[in-house]
Amino acid sequence: MTIPSATVSRLVTYLRILEELELSEVRHTSSGDLAERAQVTAFQVRKDLTYVGRHGTRGKGYTVAVLKREIIRVLGLNQRWKVVIVGMGRLGHAIANFPVAAEYQFEYAGLFDVDPNVVGTSVGGLPIRHMSGLPKFVSEQGVDMAFLTVPPERAQAAAEQLVQAGIYSILNFAPIVLRPPAPQDEKEISKTREHHNVTVENVDFLAGMKRLAYYTRRPSGPEAEDI
Ligand code: NAD
Repeated sequence: MTIPSATVSRLVTYLRILEELELSEVRHTSSGDLAERAQVTAFQVRKDLTYVGRHGTRGKGYTVAVLKREIIRVLGLNQRWKVVIVGMGRLGHAIANFPVAAEYQFEYAGLFDVDPNVVGTSVGGLPIRHMSGLPKFVSEQGVDMAFLTVPPERAQAAAEQLVQAGIYSILNFAPIVLRPPAPQDEKEISKTREHHNVTVENVDFLAGMKRLAYYTRRPSGPEAEDI
């Protein structure tokens, strides 16, 4: 069963809320409580949670630990995911130093770049490899996803290299709209994967900054003339 994308996003939000509740040693919650914290309606929460097999009824709550476990299972966060970071500049380094594996089973399997000054150095005990070695690395190690942290003008080509190497899930940090690259050899891919759609998720703090500017703008403040 495919879960609608907006529901997947809300499940991630519910999971964060459940983690917070667990930290505060709250054992039970309700669709009304989750709705208030997630800023959606209780009807929406109940509808979303039918996708995780929880058919909440009015007045009857959810056990935080059980609901959390079910959402983790449905999202696939109980599995081990091997991640590569492509583009080991400022952001690549910062992400490589961030403990993604702290709770869920994301594991940095490899770090890649093209700059000879960077290739051969290491971060957190992992060597930075040259992009030319990516296809061999993926076929040997079985990589699940990539964090793409290259300059925007390099991102499309790098994304295509990722897909050619067999990585179909990309977390794109570059501020461009990637055209989802098509997998190369459809037959090869369908032998090894249940589905072979390329999924791109974008992370863009600059977009957040622009939205924030809109909400923060001064009604009669000075404006830059040339914009
Ligand atoms: P940077 O210039 O410090 O690093 C980019 C790295 O990518 C360099 O090491 C470069 O050698 C490498 N690179 C270039 N082409 C490559 C290729 N084809 N394959 C592999 N590696 C390649 O840049 P940065 O400041 O780390 O930013 C990286 C990207 O992240 C940029 O696109 C930037 O706009 C974006 N960014 C996004 C966010 C966000 O919130 N999404 C925040 C900051 C930066």
